[in-house]
Amino acid sequence: MSEEKNIFTQELLDRCISCGYCLPACPTYEITKDEASSPRGRINIMRAVQKNELTLFESLEQSSYCLGCRACEVVCPAGVEYGLMLEEWRDAAWQGKNRPLIVKLLLFAANRRVFVRLMGLFNLRNYKKSKQQSVSLMLGCFERGLFPGVSKSSLKVFDQVSSNPAQGCCGALHAHNGELERGQELARELGDQLPGTILTTSGGCAAHLSSVLGKDRVKEVSQYFFENEMLDSLNEITKNGKKIKIGLQDSCHLRNGLGIFKEPREILKRIGEYQEVPGAAECCGAAGSYALVRPKDSKEIVSKKISEISKLELDYLVTVNPGCQRQMQTSIKKGPKVIHIVELIEMSLQSKGSK
Ligand code: SF4
Ligand code: SF4
Repeated sequence: MSEEKNIFTQELLDRCISCGYCLPACPTYEITKDEASSPRGRINIMRAVQKNELTLFESLEQSSYCLGCRACEVVCPAGVEYGLMLEEWRDAAWQGKNRPLIVKLLLFAANRRVFVRLMGLFNLRNYKKSKQQSVSLMLGCFERGLFPGVSKSSLKVFDQVSSNPAQGCCGALHAHNGELERGQELARELGDQLPGTILTTSGGCAAHLSSVLGKDRVKEVSQYFFENEMLDSLNEITKNGKKIKIGLQDSCHLRNGLGIFKEPREILKRIGEYQEVPGAAECCGAAGSYALVRPKDSKEIVSKKISEISKLELDYLVTVNPGCQRQMQTSIKKGPKVIHIVELIEMSLQSKGSK
């Protein structure tokens, strides 16, 4: 009999009853119709690795083809925590030469604290608030470089929020890409750096930080706006005398990990004519580092979504995660303007449109 390995938490592996309810929810299974690229198939691969019937190297392809979107979790009747199992899988498999080169580069950049902090200090230098507040804005390591306007909007929308531009990375990138322990350590460090409630504009970071620091410490921006009963402060935005047409792309980890999907919709309904994008809940293919690690697969996943979006003739497509924002901005060549929800909230607060 083959000797068992200690890679996965056995209780997590044992929870799957192989019912197959998760198969139709899985974007990679939808493409391939191959059991190996379904959640159940991948759990069986993990079990085979644990039993030493398969090597970690042989499991690499499916560990990277999986988007980590956790759509399988929300339909699972047995409470399988697939996201945790995927983190354990990559933590064991994505080591040394098995770690994708682009992941090595991203982690290298995120690990250079001085570099991450300098981006925040430079891009948000005029927005440092000296007075300590009870809510701290998390800047996100790549978001502060790519989309500094998102943090600036957050600081304008919420008077009670302060920001420390010298803060580090939350560790979500590490946890999802083979450095689970380091990812948890960084989340705890950020928790020490940012007092009180931590406000984040990234669904992925919100889910990771909540898993380490607890849900009470962490609020995603649309959740925070909604829970603070700020909906009545919003104004309609009009264009050519008509309400703007708005759609939303969910963040997988925000929706599937934290159950937050109603809040951004309620906000958008107050600002304009809300249109549900078909498949809004399905992954856009950004999936953290996925769009860089597997660009061809990422494009295949997003292309169906783009054709659905183009039929709606939206003015704005709203995102709640920087990775989704980058993915949609680079994929939509002609069509709605892609914008983060807090930027649209800021526009609405400044708008003189009728309520
Ligand atoms: S992960 Fe859940 S839904 Fe999928 S096969 Fe296992 S028990 Fe069934
Ligand atoms: S995380 Fe997403 S891509 Fe991976 S198995 Fe689950 S549903 Fe499929």
